[in-house]
Amino acid sequence: MKAARRGRLVVISGPSGSGKSSICRAICRFPGVEFSVSATTRRPRPGERDGVEYRFRSRREFERLVAQDALLEWARVHDNLYGTLRAPLERALRRGKTFVLEIDVQGAQTLRAKGVEGIFVFIAPPSMRDLRRRLVARGTDTPAVVERRMRNARREMRHAKRYDRVVVNDDLSRAIAEVRSILGLRASRRTGRGASSRARSRRRVA
Ligand code: 5GP
Repeated sequence: MKAARRGRLVVISGPSGSGKSSICRAICRFPGVEFSVSATTRRPRPGERDGVEYRFRSRREFERLVAQDALLEWARVHDNLYGTLRAPLERALRRGKTFVLEIDVQGAQTLRAKGVEGIFVFIAPPSMRDLRRRLVARGTDTPAVVERRMRNARREMRHAKRYDRVVVNDDLSRAIAEVRSILGLRASRRTGRGASSRARSRRRVA
């Protein structure tokens, strides 16, 4: 009998504004690549749908997931809780998929500490000045929030050396091509229906 092909786990982290969501969105359009839809206690932003960008849960429901050991890792990020569900991950790996986790540096550290195997990729902005410019240009945050994101970013940047690869997002298409090459994704991308992303079109994982 032919042995089942085991999938692989890809961890992508990087400061807010580094472009990691856009990179994940592009990568998850390749055949055989799936996005890990995290559980979170944060409120949905306009346009976000439960089960697509995130699984939006109450604090109580999230604590129940923790108590049931349903999360492979979880962390508090910007006053909200976020966690990776074990079941979809195990299902994807059994099916031979490349399963992409877009998680923060604490989550990546937890996975490393647990000895979870995977490819750990850190997305870095070309400079802190550039990061501030991008956060301001996004126009979604107040100046105080931008400052908080900058402080978090400085802290997160110190973790970059613990990742297998650091990709500097100086140009989005180039950075996507670099991550594609790291993951060896060559086949043509899916287009239209079925394409996915965290920010707008994450694929639903049942
Ligand atoms: P946002 O609320 O802006 O979508 O995400 C905030 C941060 O939480 C980002 O750095 C994102 O990568 C991180 N994050 C999202 N899901 C998870 C998760 O399941 N675990 C951990 N540790 N971090 C997560």
